[in-house]
Amino acid sequence: MSTENEGCIFCKIIAGEVPTALLYEGENVVAFDDINPQAPVHTLIIPRTHIASMNDVSLQQDEIIARMFHVARDIAKEKGVDQTGYQLLIRTGRDAGQEVDHIHLHLTGGKELGMNIG
Ligand code: 5GP
Ligand code: ZN
Repeated sequence: MSTENEGCIFCKIIAGEVPTALLYEGENVVAFDDINPQAPVHTLIIPRTHIASMNDVSLQQDEIIARMFHVARDIAKEKGVDQTGYQLLIRTGRDAGQEVDHIHLHLTGGKELGMNIG
């Protein structure tokens, strides 16, 4: 399932138009490392379908959102931060600093984290 949104960088990554090493490729969700990491571990988990933000999640998409969290949990384990700790964050809108309008879950870890991403 994929509904590409023109001009969306994350849709381009999913479509293979922006070469990116994918850490996870599932039916509904993919994951890749952030291009500008704010912590030793900084991975983005996104749905294949273009959902602009948390504000746009429908009830029918609950499973996709849950899947994003499960994938994040598994990657945290693979990267060895499951015991030391990690943070999962979805920024929504201007005040939260959301820059890419394709919903994404930040997984950060590998250092002591504040309330910001890194
Ligand atoms: P936001 O501020 O929207 O919550 O987070 C967007 C994140 O996407 C930023 O941490 C930024 O570094 C990352 N990002 C933006 N463009 C790309 C890209 O082309 N590739 C990858 N891997 N990450 C990107
Ligand atoms: Zn998109």
